[in-house]
Amino acid sequence: MTVMDVDKMAELKERLLERKRKLWREVKGQIKSGLGESYQDLLATARDEEDQAQVSLLEETQFSLIEPKRQELIAIEEALERLEGGTYGECEVCGKPIEPRRLEIMPQTTLCRDCQSQREKIAKAGLR
Ligand SMILES: [Zn+2]
Repeated sequence: MTVMDVDKMAELKERLLERKRKLWREVKGQIKSGLGESYQDLLATARDEEDQAQVSLLEETQFSLIEPKRQELIAIEEALERLEGGTYGECEVCGKPIEPRRLEIMPQTTLCRDCQSQREKIAKAGLR
């Protein structure tokens, strides 16, 4: 891996953990305010199939709202693992070191700039 000193790693880890805590707070807040009491009521009274359908619809809507945050949480989790495993900062596609400035902005990224733009191109092409 790229040479990274202990201080830098500790700092990174702290940043990732901090981001993780923040995201969790947001997700929890979102679930609470989104589902709220009506959800609890619905759950308690959902006996027939129609009610059940309402509950799962409500769940789906909420989970799609928090999905991007959930994705980021997973990415952070993985970044922490790579930090522990000593492979942090390597591009998962080409294996080259990820630009330090890129890591500054997005500590959880797994791709170097080239591979990222490559992937975005493919994603865009796929949408057409
Ligand atoms: Zn790459």
